[in-house]
Amino acid sequence: MSTNTPKNPHFPLMLSPLDLGFTTLKNRVLMGSMHTGLEEEKGGFNKLAAFYAERARGGVGLIVTGGIAPNFRGRIAPHGSQLSFSWQTSKHKLITDAVHKEGGKICLQILHTGRYAYHPFNISASNVKAPINPFKPRQMSERQIKKTIKDFASTCQLSQKAGYDGVEIMGSEGYLINQFLCSRTNKRKDQWGGSYQNRMRFALEIVKASRQKVGKDFIIIFRLSMLDLVEEGSTWDEVVELAKALEDAGVTIINTGIGWHEARIPTIATSVPRAAFSWVTAKMKKEVSIPLITTNRINTPEVAEEILARGDADMVSMARPMLADSDFVNKAAAGNSDHINTCIACNQACLDHVFKQKRASCLVNPRACYETELNFDKASSAKKLAVIGGGMAGMAFSIYAAQRGHEVNLFEAKDHLGGQFNLAKNVPGKEEFIDSLRYFTSELERQNIKVNLNSPQSVEQLKEAGFDDVVLATGVTPRIPAIDGIDNPMVYNYQQVLKGEATMGARVAVLGAGGIGYDISEFLTEAGESHTVNLDLWLKEWGIDTEVTHPGGIEGVKQVKPESARHVYLLQRKAERFGKTLQPTTGWIHRAALKKRTVDMIGGVEYVKIDDNGLHIKEDGELRLLEVDNIVICTGQESEKSLHQGLEDAGVSVHLIGGADYAGELDAKRAIRQAAELAARI
Ligand code: NAP
Ligand code: SF4
Repeated sequence: MSTNTPKNPHFPLMLSPLDLGFTTLKNRVLMGSMHTGLEEEKGGFNKLAAFYAERARGGVGLIVTGGIAPNFRGRIAPHGSQLSFSWQTSKHKLITDAVHKEGGKICLQILHTGRYAYHPFNISASNVKAPINPFKPRQMSERQIKKTIKDFASTCQLSQKAGYDGVEIMGSEGYLINQFLCSRTNKRKDQWGGSYQNRMRFALEIVKASRQKVGKDFIIIFRLSMLDLVEEGSTWDEVVELAKALEDAGVTIINTGIGWHEARIPTIATSVPRAAFSWVTAKMKKEVSIPLITTNRINTPEVAEEILARGDADMVSMARPMLADSDFVNKAAAGNSDHINTCIACNQACLDHVFKQKRASCLVNPRACYETELNFDKASSAKKLAVIGGGMAGMAFSIYAAQRGHEVNLFEAKDHLGGQFNLAKNVPGKEEFIDSLRYFTSELERQNIKVNLNSPQSVEQLKEAGFDDVVLATGVTPRIPAIDGIDNPMVYNYQQVLKGEATMGARVAVLGAGGIGYDISEFLTEAGESHTVNLDLWLKEWGIDTEVTHPGGIEGVKQVKPESARHVYLLQRKAERFGKTLQPTTGWIHRAALKKRTVDMIGGVEYVKIDDNGLHIKEDGELRLLEVDNIVICTGQESEKSLHQGLEDAGVSVHLIGGADYAGELDAKRAIRQAAELAARI
């Protein structure tokens, strides 16, 4: 594509080409690297090819694959993916051919995990154990260092043979190269440790050896940790020194890395403000002349365009948003950015799955990574369907079933759609959920689905209307525990609180410490504006030094504790650690939030009674009165499926999905996937 291509009127900067000299990227959108789990699955490369091809078709300028190890010790886990031999290139060709066929470009990410490798053969600059890995690394010998440099270069060359347009050398997030760079993990006294010149030698040798193998017309992206967010991390001067040296060594583009995996500062969770770290890339723009990519919590074309308009970066990286909507770029280009299924940064189906060594997908798009398995092809005969309940499960089912050509009639008893997401969006740090409501409700319109609000249905009505199938997506109701005095007017359930129907006093007891108990505690203690929508306050809360005068951008910086709006007691009957059921990648953030707001957590309690004095509990066998003004019930849910038996008895073909099917572990991820799977086969 020539640089004279007319500018797209909608997102002129994001959609303008990027000329790299020997090749041109069609726009400024990078689909960032993301491990999917398909890399290790039998037959996974065919599925990966379909996954990437769909994103290339969706218009993304450049794709970077999930991390592939240059040798055995660098694998993420014993069966992790590796590219070291010629015979391994054929399966990669499936990917590169599929992407090129769609007019896309793709780079392979070379990732050596170093001390993050989840196996006993892991190695690092020094034998310093990572706090997030039980396996202690062995210090690399000089021979191993040289061999690893060669292995990186060889993988780079094999990538070229496999048809990739380039590679991304993973130098951030606390992986091996990053481990060499920082004194936190590099305690060596030889030419690979000590001075910064020595610590950056490994990174530079890898780049030089790789460039030498592939010649000049091959993209080499270096993912540079610009902000480590750990103690004994790099200083800004060091990061700049390395960036300049990388440019001299022949790197084509520098991508921004933010935070090591072991950092205790959130970097991509939904509570992180949008584009929270583009200022870091902006600082680097003054220092080098090669293109820079910025990343982290960029999830809409509008945000991407703003970043580029400010001149913070030359390209924007989005990984999870491309899982949520493969057609992101095309929709933006057509002026339909409001039709994009926005990534809400929940991590629930992507990173949490990868963490548990399961295949990644997406909560709001269950087709992600299932492109060859979950499809909504036209049904052989169109059915007349009734969907009861307009929460996420009901809306998702309706949309997918309509895509198959079925006539869908959606009935919702309330005067609005959205179910539990209407509540979730009110929780501080979950503001993003509003975008799922926007997407799903507007998609119903685009699919011409008949939506009937204020329309509770009876068995008789449904039978009489003669539907072929009725899908019950009637959700859940809060479980009310049998506690003496539970009907005291000071007691509310979480739904009433999140809907703003309850006035809360200065002291509140929250019963039940599952996901919702945590959400309610955050909601009740939040004083003033949510920090998720105020970047300055958020950076101060987490003690991030935007001048990066402190190593890692945090060392010695005091975190500003947020004020707490009221005193909250969070209670559970179990005597185990609090927050055990929270998600693996974000649970620690919720625990930290409540700690900062000094929420009192009391476990192993028995609820004795509630009266006007407050909540009477038994703790360690002793009676205790919590003098609270209000009590909020977050003790799980029960399925609402009162129509089910009646419909079955009336001989109607009926299906249950979402919370109506199973209330335990109620979650939108399961509800939407279940809806999609039913729609694909009904
Ligand atoms: P939950 O995780 O099942 O927690 C409810 C808690 O209430 C239980 O852990 C239980 O703890 C207590 N409980 C249950 N029955 C009780 C009874 N009869 N009397 C007194 N206490 C009782 O349910 P949830 O908090 O409603 O969350 C549901 C799901 O929503 C989660 O699994 C998650 O998938 C999703 N969610 C997640 C998040 C998040 O991760 N941030 C946020 C919102 C929702 P004890 O028995 O120990 O007291
Ligand atoms: Fe985004 Fe959540 Fe989907 Fe992951 S699961 S891509 S975070 S919406």
